[in-house]
Amino acid sequence: MRHIDKIIVHCSATPEGKHFSAETITSWHRKRGFSDIGYHFIIHLDGSFEYGRMVDVQGAHCRGQNKSSIGLCYIGGMNDTMEEWVDTRTDKQKDSLVELLSLLKKFHPKAEIFGHRDFSDKPCPSFNAREEYKYICNDL
Ligand SMILES: [Zn+2]
Repeated sequence: MRHIDKIIVHCSATPEGKHFSAETITSWHRKRGFSDIGYHFIIHLDGSFEYGRMVDVQGAHCRGQNKSSIGLCYIGGMNDTMEEWVDTRTDKQKDSLVELLSLLKKFHPKAEIFGHRDFSDKPCPSFNAREEYKYICNDL
């Protein structure tokens, strides 16, 4: 099993309210030279999940942190004109993020939850994931 010490939350940096499939994101990432989608999980507007890379395979989502992290990505994160980074999470995405993060914490109790922006100067995922999810502990 890969050693996991971080769970990192991203947004897809796509316009608010628009659906994008994991397949579409995979094609974007392949164009950037990745072998596959960079994230392990995609959280859709309706709260459903799609798998990206297998969790046991290193992702390509956060420079310097990929080796020991899991990358989650919710669809959205930009306003409709793509000019601003905005927290566009739907209520269902919020619920699913908590559910998924809680589950991942059970499998990887020592892992801490971060946002991409904790390791980058990009505002991804458009909200303070570290602060918002610090209450998620192993016994949730
Ligand atoms: Zn990101």
